[in-house]
Amino acid sequence: MFKAVVINKDDAGYRAEVTSLDESALPEGNVKLDVLCSTLNYKDGLAITGKGPVVRRFPMVPGIDLVGRVTESTSDEFKAGDLALLNGFGVGEVHWGGLAEKASLSSDWLIPLPDGMAPEEAMSIGTAGYTAMLCVIALEKHGVTPDKGDILVTGANGGVGSFAISLLAKLGYTVVASTGRLEEEAYLKSLGASEIIDRSTLSEPGKPFQKERWAGAVDSVGSHTLANILASTQYGGAVAACGLAQGADLKATVMPFILRGVTLAGVDSVMRSKSDREEAWSRLVELKDDCWFGDIATKVSLYEVIDSASKLMAGEIRGRVVVNIAD
Ligand code: NDP
Repeated sequence: MFKAVVINKDDAGYRAEVTSLDESALPEGNVKLDVLCSTLNYKDGLAITGKGPVVRRFPMVPGIDLVGRVTESTSDEFKAGDLALLNGFGVGEVHWGGLAEKASLSSDWLIPLPDGMAPEEAMSIGTAGYTAMLCVIALEKHGVTPDKGDILVTGANGGVGSFAISLLAKLGYTVVASTGRLEEEAYLKSLGASEIIDRSTLSEPGKPFQKERWAGAVDSVGSHTLANILASTQYGGAVAACGLAQGADLKATVMPFILRGVTLAGVDSVMRSKSDREEAWSRLVELKDDCWFGDIATKVSLYEVIDSASKLMAGEIRGRVVVNIAD
C-alpha cells in the first residue's frame, strides 16, 4: 500500500483526498519509483481544487513534477537506485503523477536528476523555473545576447516571470520587469530586475508597429501584451512566448516579422525532447547558485497538499511549494 492524493469525480462530486492505494493499482510504466519530492504548480492547484479542467481521467493522482528513486526498471536507461526527474508529459492529467509515495512512469518521460541538483532544489524550481530556462535558451538560440539591449519579462511576480528575471540577470542581461503589482518593486529588483514597468502600459490594444524598445522578451501573458511586445521589439530581436495569463488571443500584424525580422519563439514545457530537457536542467545546475531558487519555497507534507492547493488558488502563497513526500 502507498499514500497518494487522489482526485475523484462522480455522483458525490469533485473531491481530492489523501488515501491509501494498493501498488497493483499503479498505471503501466517501465520504471517504478519511490517519489521523494514533488511540488505544487498552478496547474496542480487547478486540478486539486477542481477550478480548471486539468484532470482528464478519474481517479487521478495529481502532480506534474516529481523527483523519485527508481525501485524497478525494465529500461536500459534507468536502474534501481537512480534518481530520476519528471516534468510534464500529461502526468497528473491523464497519467498518475507525483503527489504520491509511488509512481509508475515511462522511461521516455524521465531524465536522470542532474549531478549537483538536490531533489528539493529541483522541485523548488519545478515546471515554472524549467519553463523560464527554456525561454532563456530560446532567446539565446535566436541570437539575443546581453549586449543587444533590454529584455522584457512579463508576469514578473509569477513563477515563470520571477525565474526568468533571476536567470537573465545572472546571465548578464538588463531586465525590465512588467507587473500589475508595482508595490513589489523591491522584491523584483532583488531578483535582478533593473527597471519595473506597469503592465497596463502593455495590456491595451496598440499600434501594429511601434518604436523599437526590446532586444528580446519572455512573455507569460499573451493577448494584447504580446502583440505590443512584438510591435516594439528591435530589429532581429526575439520573443519567447509561453503563457496566457492575460488571454490566449493574439491580435497582431506581420509587420514586426517582415520589416524587422523579429522572431516569435513558442515555448512548450510539457512534451520536450530528452535532449532539450537535459540541456535546460544542466543550465539550471550551472545557474542555481546565488539565484532565487530554493530560499523562497514553502515546504509541506503530502497531508498538507490539499490545503496548500486552496491557498495557492486564493493567492495566499508567494513563491514555490515543495512537497516532501517522506514527511
Ligand atoms: P502565475 O500565476 O504564477 O503568474 C502569472 C503572472 O501573470 C501573475 O503573477 C501576474 O504577474 C501576471 N498576470 C496575471 N493576470 C494577468 C493579466 N490579466 N494581465 C497581465 N498579466 C497578468 O503563473 P506561472 O508563472 O506559473 O505561469 C505563467 C503563464 O505561463 C500561465 O499562463 C501558465 O499557464 C503558462 N505556463 C506555460 C507553460 C508552458 O509549457 N508553455 C509552463 C508553465 C506555465 P504580475 O502580478 O507581476 O503582473
